Amino acid sequence: MVGIPFVEPLDGLVYGAANRLSPLVARVVAENPSKFTYKGTGTYIIGREDVVVIDPGPNLDAHRTALERTLDGKRVRGIVVTHCHSDHVPLSYWLRETTGAPTFAFGPHPRPAPSALFDDDPTTEDDETNDKVGDGEEREHTDFDFVPDIAVRDGERFIDVDGWSLTAVHTPGHTSNHLCVHLDVENALFTGDHIMGWSTTVVSPPDGNMTDYMESVRKLTRRNDAILYPTHGNPVRDPAPFLAAYLEHRIERETQILTLLTKGPSTIREIVEVLYANVRRELHKPARRSVLSHMLKLLEEGRVAVMADAPVSMRATWKLQESSL
Ligand SMILES: [Zn+2]
Repeated sequence: MVGIPFVEPLDGLVYGAANRLSPLVARVVAENPSKFTYKGTGTYIIGREDVVVIDPGPNLDAHRTALERTLDGKRVRGIVVTHCHSDHVPLSYWLRETTGAPTFAFGPHPRPAPSALFDDDPTTEDDETNDKVGDGEEREHTDFDFVPDIAVRDGERFIDVDGWSLTAVHTPGHTSNHLCVHLDVENALFTGDHIMGWSTTVVSPPDGNMTDYMESVRKLTRRNDAILYPTHGNPVRDPAPFLAAYLEHRIERETQILTLLTKGPSTIREIVEVLYANVRRELHKPARRSVLSHMLKLLEEGRVAVMADAPVSMRATWKLQESSL
């Protein structure tokens, strides 16, 4: 697989302290490390006197206190939520309540139609026996109740204060409502979980969509941002090669899946056993969701099909469509 130029460990990490990253950008990292969040959620504070807070983060007393201390004496003009996962949104309620600042986001997270088709195969639970991560952290939980005060549109300049402004960049894929935010005077893009500084992003159907995701990565390659600030991991200081490798990684995965299927029909579980043989087993479950998202994209493109007209699901057996390579 192509190497994505991740930079580790996390620069200047001190939980509870504001780390200044540029004249206008500071970050406070919450102490919620996990296999989804790396060292934790990075809450960004943009501005000096008048500030905007991006992704206030999880409901942890220490993180709330750290934000309180960092924001003391400042005027919070807005709260941005990149998407509604539980490591991003919870403290936005408190911050809105205490500051009166409005919340901005692309929109609420759509409620999925009830369906078990995309649930994991229950027989795969054995994978988790040696998993040190508790069940509560197993998935990225979603706050379906969050509704922003102001829903922003793609390309909309929604904050204009003190000589700088923020513009919305809609990047569906990780979630359908995922939002990146551009800070004009530093030509910086806050990428939420769309681009991460330490790992590739989880794309988990049905709301996560690989077709949209890859298009949203391409969308960033057509921009000319000087720096990317992800919620998890270090800033990306040379976006072009990073984004190229990020995209190439997905294309390579897709090619691997198609190549594997030339040997005969396969289930997603079997595909993961082969393609992720060198990856820790605790990551096989999220890997199956990722492979499912690739299968749905390939299905949409008419390159794969499910066997015997079975329903399209996590448990289906997949085959190549004629001449799809
Ligand atoms: Zn997320």
